[in-house]
Amino acid sequence: MTYAEAARTLCRLGRIFGERGWLPATSGNLSIRLQANPLLFAITRSGADKQCLEPRDIIRVDAEGRVVDGGPYKPSAETVVHITLYQALAPGCILHVHSLYNNLVSEWAFERGAVTIARHELLKALGHWEEDATIDVPVVENFADLDRLAAAVRDAARPGVPGVLVRNHGIYAWGEDAFAAKRHLEAFEFLFEYVIKLWQLGL
Ligand SMILES: [Zn+2]
Repeated sequence: MTYAEAARTLCRLGRIFGERGWLPATSGNLSIRLQANPLLFAITRSGADKQCLEPRDIIRVDAEGRVVDGGPYKPSAETVVHITLYQALAPGCILHVHSLYNNLVSEWAFERGAVTIARHELLKALGHWEEDATIDVPVVENFADLDRLAAAVRDAARPGVPGVLVRNHGIYAWGEDAFAAKRHLEAFEFLFEYVIKLWQLGL
């Protein structure tokens, strides 16, 4: 994917997720890998309103977090988490959003270290087709030191679960490309809302 194509895709995803309330108050960051080796990716700039992204808000960054293209803008402060995940897991796209339900479920499950989701149709969207499928979505502490946060997210990631929750902060979800990452993120967000509402109902 070219830088221009990635920028268009990230603007579109920002609009969609923004309308759903997943990127409040300029929070969240979205990226697409342009090149694996050496690493080069496109990412939303720091401080942008993600509902109104334009191609100039998407900057090109290298493995050191240096801006390769992007005018006067700085990359997202959480760029180091994206770099760490690209280097460890080699996804094609990483989506980080702050939704109400991912925040609620992260606080609710933090002491256990993971949110367990079992026997739900949408687990298929995460690649689990067995009838009794169960996954544990890890939750890590919201370290203020972003290098420490990046290492915690990387170390918590487990095979077959393309996302890690950060306590009272949000989720990092990823996939082999933007289509897969969006599908995974939507499945997670649906399942988190389902889990919270199930708990509210006392079921
Ligand atoms: Zn964040």
